[in-house]
Amino acid sequence: MIPNAFSLALQGLGVGKIADALQERMETMSRTSALRAARTGVTAAQNAGRMDAFHAAQEMGIQNKKQWLSTLDGRTRHEHQILDGQVQEIDAPFEVSGLKIRYPGDPEAAPRLVYNCRCTLVTDLPQNLSLGQRRARDPVTGESVVIDYTTYEDWMESLKAQHGEKTVDNALKKVHNESADREQHEKYRKRLGKIVPKNFKDFQNLKYDNPDEWELIKKSYRNNSRDTTSKEIVKKNNESADRKLWEKYKSEFGDNVPETFSKFQSLKYNSGNWDEYQDYIKALKSGELSALADFSLYQDTSREIDEKLVGLITADGIQITGKSKHFISRIIGSVEQRRSGVSIENAKKAILSPTEIKKRPNGSHQYILEYTCDVSVNPDTGNLIQTNPRHSKKVEP
Ligand SMILES: [Zn+2]
Repeated sequence: MIPNAFSLALQGLGVGKIADALQERMETMSRTSALRAARTGVTAAQNAGRMDAFHAAQEMGIQNKKQWLSTLDGRTRHEHQILDGQVQEIDAPFEVSGLKIRYPGDPEAAPRLVYNCRCTLVTDLPQNLSLGQRRARDPVTGESVVIDYTTYEDWMESLKAQHGEKTVDNALKKVHNESADREQHEKYRKRLGKIVPKNFKDFQNLKYDNPDEWELIKKSYRNNSRDTTSKEIVKKNNESADRKLWEKYKSEFGDNVPETFSKFQSLKYNSGNWDEYQDYIKALKSGELSALADFSLYQDTSREIDEKLVGLITADGIQITGKSKHFISRIIGSVEQRRSGVSIENAKKAILSPTEIKKRPNGSHQYILEYTCDVSVNPDTGNLIQTNPRHSKKVEP
């Protein structure tokens, strides 16, 4: 394969054309591997060309040596990082890990030194200005910069001094593991859904920069579960949005909101009471529920209504099946709306033995207990709609 790509490259064909030709000759070859072989062939041909130029220079009496130059980015393989900057006589091979290679892409060298190589060859002539500076891609920022000449290993050292060793190591891992990580990303998304970041970059950042959270994700994946551990993950993922909501609630509803953020998140994700809490907040917001009523009173009242009123049969034979949210607020009452509440015992009396039953224009049945309270029920569904206190005429304004 390489000799094919190599000879095509020597004929001056570009990467795309070479890949086309390789695929024509070998129908089973994928586009990816054809492109890889083509790029390798072009690297080999360019460097073989430089070797010819060095030989020609020698014949003209110019004494020079060859020097290996690697690409300064996170993708260069380990052996070529070590080779970077190595100087050899024109006809002596470069040496690394007990292997020999005459120039980058050398078709006679071990394949693992050759495939996908982007290294190049320069002459080490002192007057060669190309060694003054070189281009590098910072694996942390992704930016391409021109730097003063340095070897790959020194460049790495300076990156670590600049960004910190851990950051550089993680950035390199992201580059090296990219294709494996892409597969993992897909598998994780498929099994765990939105717990896993949608964006691949975010996924890699999570994996390498956020080890605690990554552990939780892995655990969820192994257990094939979107539940317990994933709740912790959802908490973390929603942290900033939740914090904003908590602060907003805090400023609007003060002591009726959990005092710490962590309690607020527990309420949201772990208590099973979040929907009810949202109803409670809505009732506070509309003013139908007194700000003096805290959430536990709201919950207790709701339960007590279920226990004591739901299931009763009204004086005219309607079975109570449930309650509106409005009904809970009406039982508690609202200082802000100058409306006192109704005791559940009185509501019960009104339902079972009213002094009067009215059929209202909207179809509901109203059970009135004189000077005490009234309760409205939807006769079709059995739902408790609302309740009002009723006072003796003397105290009404
Ligand atoms: Zn290379």
